[in-house]
Amino acid sequence: MQKSIIRGYYEDLEQKKLIGKKCRKCGKITFPPTAICEHCGSREIDAFELSGEGELLFVSHSMAPPPNPRFNKIAPYAYGHVRLQEGVFVQGIITGVGIDPESLLEFYQKCPVKVVPDIIEAEGLSILAFKIK
Ligand SMILES: [Zn+2]
Repeated sequence: MQKSIIRGYYEDLEQKKLIGKKCRKCGKITFPPTAICEHCGSREIDAFELSGEGELLFVSHSMAPPPNPRFNKIAPYAYGHVRLQEGVFVQGIITGVGIDPESLLEFYQKCPVKVVPDIIEAEGLSILAFKIK
């Protein structure tokens, strides 16, 4: 039986690996991984390790309560949109950024800035975050 894609994704994160899927038909990358290519719908996709390096395009902070109780311990946190060098867009927690309005504004004005993965743990689950390079 095939392992759940979601479960595999989190297991890979535990190993500090970002695994997406690369399509054999169109050559594009789907991340987070799914069962089919999000660009052309092909099922001919292979695991592909992403560098996780990219650019932070936008940063904000979590005003609303965390979407899941497991985030309570790490809230409040900065949150941003990242474009990985492989061309994939990812949203994630940005570590090492102050969340007061002045810090965020200063940061926002500096964007895009280089980021690298910073996988953090919340209540036993590894989650994808990014830190400034
Ligand atoms: Zn495709």
